[in-house]
Amino acid sequence: MKPAIILVSETRCDELLDEFGRYARDYELPTATSAHEAKLAAKRVVAEGGQVAMFVTESRLPDADVHEAFHWWRQTVPTARRVIAAHVSTFREDAERLRGGMAKGKYDAYLLAPRGARDEEFHTAICELLSDWGSTVAEPEVVAVALVSPVEDALTLSIRDYLDRMGLPNRVYAPESEKGRHVLALVAAESGEAEFPLFMDLNQRVGSARSVRDVASAIYGRPADVDVDRVVDVAIVGAGPAGLAAAVYASSEGLSTVVLEAEAVGGQAGTSSMIRNYLGFPRGISGMRLAQRARNQAIRFGTQFFSGWPVTSLVPGEVDAEGVLAPHRLRTEGGDLLARAVVVSAGVKYRRLDAPGIERLVGLGVHYGSAMTAAREMEGADVVVVGGGNSAGQAAIHLARFARTVTILVRRASLAETMSSYLVGEIAYNPRISVLACSEVVEGGPGEDGRLGWVTVRNTADGTQERRECRGLFLLIGAAPHCDWLPDEVVRDERGFVLTGRDVPQDRWRDGLPPESLETTVHGVFAAGDIRAGSMKRVASASGEGASVVPLVHAWLDPSH
Ligand SMILES: Cc1cc2nc3c(=O)[nH]c(=O)nc-3n(C[C@H](O)[C@H](O)[C@H](O)COP(=O)(O)OP(=O)(O)OC[C@H]3O[C@@H](n4cnc5c(N)ncnc54)[C@H](O)[C@@H]3O)c2cc1C
Repeated sequence: MKPAIILVSETRCDELLDEFGRYARDYELPTATSAHEAKLAAKRVVAEGGQVAMFVTESRLPDADVHEAFHWWRQTVPTARRVIAAHVSTFREDAERLRGGMAKGKYDAYLLAPRGARDEEFHTAICELLSDWGSTVAEPEVVAVALVSPVEDALTLSIRDYLDRMGLPNRVYAPESEKGRHVLALVAAESGEAEFPLFMDLNQRVGSARSVRDVASAIYGRPADVDVDRVVDVAIVGAGPAGLAAAVYASSEGLSTVVLEAEAVGGQAGTSSMIRNYLGFPRGISGMRLAQRARNQAIRFGTQFFSGWPVTSLVPGEVDAEGVLAPHRLRTEGGDLLARAVVVSAGVKYRRLDAPGIERLVGLGVHYGSAMTAAREMEGADVVVVGGGNSAGQAAIHLARFARTVTILVRRASLAETMSSYLVGEIAYNPRISVLACSEVVEGGPGEDGRLGWVTVRNTADGTQERRECRGLFLLIGAAPHCDWLPDEVVRDERGFVLTGRDVPQDRWRDGLPPESLETTVHGVFAAGDIRAGSMKRVASASGEGASVVPLVHAWLDPSH
């Protein structure tokens, strides 16, 4: 059954149908002349076991304001993409009234309906939204990796998560299904050992997966595949935005470049369902898509990627008797890599909240770290901020501009011990913010629309629990840099963030000079992105630093050094 794109217009359904004719092979195209009719059409599709991929509506409807209509449709099908294709006669007039709703996530795109053939700008927007819908909601039509398992256990789920983040469509088949039997037969013929889950990639390579890495290395290889005697110009540790940008710029400028990534490509950004503040993407872009695009771009310039391989240590190169600096050595469990320059872009990890129901709502009302982007979606909502540090205080103050109420939850008896007093004062003054001391979130769950709807809060002093409505949960419970693999020679601040340039204490400067701006205390080892002390902790700043590090790497590799 084909998914549906529901086209809604009081008087111009024919025009919309004509315009969307190019999608008829892959989608049903039911039409509706009012918000109510569209809702019934969506209910019909769902009742017949189908899926609604998208609603496309004019900016004016006869029976409801378009925001209200989106609200009804969202209740029926929370996952469908929602688009306004405004007619030229109302486009300008309605833009001001309606665009605010887009910023708050009420719908996905405000477009001018095409006025002639081949309006590819319009259709690019539609295709991108359908592609996002397809990769997050629908079962894939073409499966790049088939998994065979009798149950979707934790290992199978983490393999799927890895494959999703790598942009590889995947599906789990039962062992007794046709596909399951086919994979079992191939595994039996190859090794005889068939421990679930099994996997098969597009090239019919099969195997038993005892870890995510088994699948990662079967598809993408292992660092030992790089010729041991070969010294690469630059090795990049971590493939978040900083590492990806460094890879694109380094390889595009002719440097031999290898990226070693512990998990899936994309870093923290790859886990974001929609990055709305990245330059050049007016409708936002999912972190996974941004990461895949950057990875493909870097591969086109010749970067080699190894994902699923954490670097376990860095052994800085030493100067030999002739004064020549040996290459740096990066160790992984899949082999060592020698590199003349290293970019450390291993980012940070936000401490996760270990409470049932929360993790699967990340991006759907639950947010780790920065509250800036998501705050606008919180208009009129009751939100909870967890954390007692300055970042939690700043987030609460920012959120209170939008939300109806903001509750700061802290385990301690007050904020005073952990937050700057000016913030404590501002919070006390703000009538929308309240502080709940001695408390913690112990559970959460979705509301009707599939986004966060409630949390359960436990009083740590007396053990009592209370369930409260909550549309936004902002977790600012600390972020720690991924730096345990770095040697002591790479100097860090007291929290483990890597010091570069003038931030390096003077007693570690060489010949009275600080390292270059993004250089660490080890010659030829640079740092970019969130792991760097003083960095801004944003996608754009991380990728900016990744790009900026490349001229410094170039200068370092220059033979006159
Ligand atoms: C859920 C979420 C949503 C966000 N939304 C936004 C947003 O909308 N806008 C915005 O500007 N910012 C957002 N941020 C912040 C933004 O994602 C980060 O600032 C950015 O990703 C930092 O990039 P980075 O490359 O420095 O590090 P990271 O993205 O943290 O990437 C570091 C990578 O290094 C890898 N790594 C770690 N240790 C090793 C090792 N030993 N060996 C090999 N690899 C290693 C990690 O697995 C990771 O993939 C969001 C963050 C999160 C968590």
